[in-house]
Amino acid sequence: MLLRKVLRTHQRGNRYISSNNTLLPLSYVNGKKLDQITSTQSNLRPLINPATGQHIGEFYDSSKDCVSAAVEGAVKALDVWRALTGFERGKLLKKAADLIRGDHVAITEMEVEDTGKPIWEARMDILGCADSMEFFGGVATTVKGDHMMLSNGNFGYTVREPLGVVAAIGAWNYPFQMACWKSAPALACGNTLVFKPAQDTPRTAVRLAEILTEAGLPNGAFNVIQGAAETGSLLTSHPDVNKVSFTGSVETGSKVMSSCAAGIKHVTLELGGKSPIIIFDDADLDCAVTGAMLGNWLAQGQVCSNGTRVYVQRSLMKSFLEKLITRTKAMKIGNPMEEDTRVGAAISSAHAERVLGYIELARSEGAKVEYGGARFVPADPLLKNGNFLSPCILTECTDTMRVVREEIFGSVMCVMPFDSEEEVLERANDTKFGLAAGVFTSNLFRAHRVISKLQAGSCYINNYNVNPVEIPFGGYKQSGIGRECGELCLQYYTQSKSVYVEMGDISADAPF
Ligand code: NAD
Repeated sequence: MLLRKVLRTHQRGNRYISSNNTLLPLSYVNGKKLDQITSTQSNLRPLINPATGQHIGEFYDSSKDCVSAAVEGAVKALDVWRALTGFERGKLLKKAADLIRGDHVAITEMEVEDTGKPIWEARMDILGCADSMEFFGGVATTVKGDHMMLSNGNFGYTVREPLGVVAAIGAWNYPFQMACWKSAPALACGNTLVFKPAQDTPRTAVRLAEILTEAGLPNGAFNVIQGAAETGSLLTSHPDVNKVSFTGSVETGSKVMSSCAAGIKHVTLELGGKSPIIIFDDADLDCAVTGAMLGNWLAQGQVCSNGTRVYVQRSLMKSFLEKLITRTKAMKIGNPMEEDTRVGAAISSAHAERVLGYIELARSEGAKVEYGGARFVPADPLLKNGNFLSPCILTECTDTMRVVREEIFGSVMCVMPFDSEEEVLERANDTKFGLAAGVFTSNLFRAHRVISKLQAGSCYINNYNVNPVEIPFGGYKQSGIGRECGELCLQYYTQSKSVYVEMGDISADAPF
């Protein structure tokens, strides 16, 4: 097999380093990276740096045999892994947390190269992943059932048992985080996994597999396969897969759920959103502007929970917009490897075009572009082929416009005035999505009253897009089923076994 090696140079931060543009072995099965020869019959994909347009390398989709081997490995590893106590599994996850922290610089750089997001954001994500491993390492001992005393000394008890093999499928905006948010709780509960990252961001999940192996995870307990829809459906329809944990769009989530329905598999869906942020006129203006920026500009707007419908009480609208535009203009767009960059590159040129298409549509529907919404070419010639867009602020939107109703998954914020609490609640809930929602006000009675009426799974008061690992995350309505993070998440990776224990002689009173 011919190994193509092209020496390339690309920039990291303000230094230039060399790397091999080569065939990348990215399928990780039974504790080792698979030789590419096993995948030669499958599709070859380029891996492209969104900020430079350069080829990082190429990789094969995992073949059907490779997917089968990964599931088989996960089945075999189950006996060993689930036989450990929660405490023993937890110790290993905590070791993985330490290894992630020890290697976070390299993982962060890889994540930036794959996603195009600013390095400070990627670092925050990766360190948060270490926290996730540590948290689920800690709660692994709490996976337990109940005890029920019954008449005549009889009793019953329940045991929370693992589901078995989990197929986990991720989107491209938080690649390492998705691998950790799914594997940490699943492994804590005694399941094994086959993980498929999104085809645009295939690398950091493989690094996680290496780290888990180094931490002592049995071979086969965490496998990584590569590819897109075809590979994903091989996994979701596999008879030996017991649960699917999926993150992605509503459209794909629906297909995944149908596939799970056919095999009566457990399913968790983390899907899209079009979330509202409501800013009342008694809110701290600077905090409200910061909240709207946190709710729209992270990861080039490619965040599922983003609050892209920003409702501002009419009397505050002018001052809110002025501050928002001033602060948005001040954000540096450019090399994501530089610490002061606030806006990196969209995941692909096609995705950038899709976002620009929505902005054109908004114009044609009568919205006003207050700022941004165009291709941006940084001065650095190395970035001339990058997918950079200036963040877009729209006003004069109506609730029926497509830009207000559909998930764009890019930096497009619709700022709309409102007059009363009742009116804004009705407008905020008028959506098929229900992932997140935010309220800014200094009146805590109102804050809780409004939150209690918002149809969303993850709500924020006077902040936005903060996701501590202790708090469950997930959506209402078409934004999903099930939760990630928090102790609640353990319920989605276990099943309850009920046991009745007879302490007497049953033959005495038996009808036969
Ligand atoms: P996508 O639905 O196109 O793809 C997601 C994953 O599913 C990818 O790995 C893809 O290869 C795989 N896939 C595609 N077709 C499949 C099939 N038929 N069977 C099995 N797997 C299949 O989504 P995307 O473009 O990668 O990500 C963006 C979407 O993800 C947005 O809608 C965003 O809101 C959502 N998202 C949700 C969350 C959340 O936690 N709720 C987090 C991040 C992203």
